[in-house]
Amino acid sequence: MDRAIWRKSTGSFVRYNCPRCGKGKLKTKTDSFVRLEPTHVTHKLEADELRGELSWGRFSGYLACSAVGCGELVVVAGDFEEHYHYQFDEDTGDPIEFTDTSYKPRIMHPAPPMIEVPKRLGKDAKEHMTRAFDLFWSDAGACANRMRIVVELLLDQLEIARRGPKGKRNNVRLDLSDRIDLLKDVRPGHDKALTALRIVGNTGSHEGVVEFEELLDCFELLEDALIELLERRRENLNAKAQRIIDRRGKNP
Ligand SMILES: [Zn+2]
Repeated sequence: MDRAIWRKSTGSFVRYNCPRCGKGKLKTKTDSFVRLEPTHVTHKLEADELRGELSWGRFSGYLACSAVGCGELVVVAGDFEEHYHYQFDEDTGDPIEFTDTSYKPRIMHPAPPMIEVPKRLGKDAKEHMTRAFDLFWSDAGACANRMRIVVELLLDQLEIARRGPKGKRNNVRLDLSDRIDLLKDVRPGHDKALTALRIVGNTGSHEGVVEFEELLDCFELLEDALIELLERRRENLNAKAQRIIDRRGKNP
């Protein structure tokens, strides 16, 4: 995950991956961007004598995929804020004007993928993942909750039971925390990451407040867990290294 490109507000839209083909990058269609200032903002700026210094309101626009034959369109919309700066060129004394615009997207549809999703991940889990990318822009709590569902489905795929013995009873519904414990026995090393995803996902469904940076942490943790648990990437690399050592180790 390229964490630095996911920001709450941005001056320009970086080249996210295309949500359709995954190969192309999204480029801003500059002429499609519209910024409108609501009347109540106009009145406020006039009352405060700030007209010409700043503005804010809503924006909408399109990003287009650069891949030949794809050209997918992503619509973005949300809030904008603009500051106007006036300076003088030190040499010529000519006035220089420039505008500093920041966009805070609330909608991106279809949403660009934020993490690498292994091909092996089940169809249902992939659908929840896509919804998590969508919800990232509009509802952090709901987004965290979708990631929690992906964890449940990932455990299904890894054949971790949904029912089993608990306390004095033999066959009860196991909650996510029990299932993470079961995973720890067969595939150790992932329980901390999955527990963090479980807790933040719960916050999302009950109290509703999930911080932006925390959400990015969750995406990072989920990406690593998916890749390691489904593709065993680190294990495979270690095995590769071991084969080299075995082959050449005799003559270091
Ligand atoms: Zn594309």
